[in-house]
Amino acid sequence: METRTETARARSVTLALPEWPGHRPGQHVDVRLTAEDGYQAERSYSIASPPEEQRKVTITVERLDDGEVSPYLVDEVQVGDHLELRGPIGGYFVWEAPVGGPLLLVGGGSGIVPLMAMIRHRRAVSSTVPTRLLYSSRSQEEVIYRDELDDLTRRDGALEVIYTFTRKQPPGWTGYGRRIDGDLLREVAWPAEDHPLAYICGPTLFVETAATGVVALGYAVSSVKTERFGPTGGV
Ligand SMILES: Cc1cc2nc3c(=O)[nH]c(=O)nc-3n(C[C@H](O)[C@H](O)[C@H](O)COP(=O)(O)OP(=O)(O)OC[C@H]3O[C@@H](n4cnc5c(N)ncnc54)[C@H](O)[C@@H]3O)c2cc1C
Repeated sequence: METRTETARARSVTLALPEWPGHRPGQHVDVRLTAEDGYQAERSYSIASPPEEQRKVTITVERLDDGEVSPYLVDEVQVGDHLELRGPIGGYFVWEAPVGGPLLLVGGGSGIVPLMAMIRHRRAVSSTVPTRLLYSSRSQEEVIYRDELDDLTRRDGALEVIYTFTRKQPPGWTGYGRRIDGDLLREVAWPAEDHPLAYICGPTLFVETAATGVVALGYAVSSVKTERFGPTGGV
């Protein structure tokens, strides 16, 4: 296992999986923790790594301070620990290069994670599908994968990243500084006439606003795929 601090609240955990069957970009795993007294908790986490990285899987977890599982994965899990993983799960919120585009990816907070798997896959297979990522986070410091996204956009003219910082903007910021709304989507999204595909992921309300927004722009409902990061609770 390897870990990497992404932001003050988010950490990536890479697990070596000798028997991993492979996954598709956008899928997730269920992670189960078992306490010494046998108490178990299970949560879903999207896979951040591309399928091209074989026999290992990276998840990126953002800490919810009052959460049961995420604080453990962000602050406590250590190299050498064993986590129980089930997956890969999901076949709907998946994009692979042959599916094409143009591609509109809309992520809120940790909703970037499955979209990053798509971006990394796109890069790994040298896809030139025109891709726009609209990424909403509270502040620039909370942007997960910022350096990698900057680097990818520098090297790839067909990949654009548009940020909106909803709580705090950097000094001199001239970009968006509000939550995603219809006007913002109209400015950023590919025109419906281009027959784009949209993948939207984040908190439930965020996803609903963005999905309604792109459909209002004329996107075909069947071309808009959503993944909601609501509480997964349970066992
Ligand atoms: C398909 C899928 C993929 C996911 N992928 C990721 C991922 O890649 N990275 C990631 O960090 N999380 C992801 N999540 C969310 C994750 O499963 C957990 O819900 C999250 O980590 C909180 O778990 P917890 O045990 O810390 O909090 P809990 O103990 O479950 O909840 C603590 C409190 O926070 C609220 N809450 C729980 N989850 C959320 C949430 N997501 N947003 C807002 N409030 C919440 C609860 O209602 C409760 O009040 C995903 C969820 C789904 C359904």
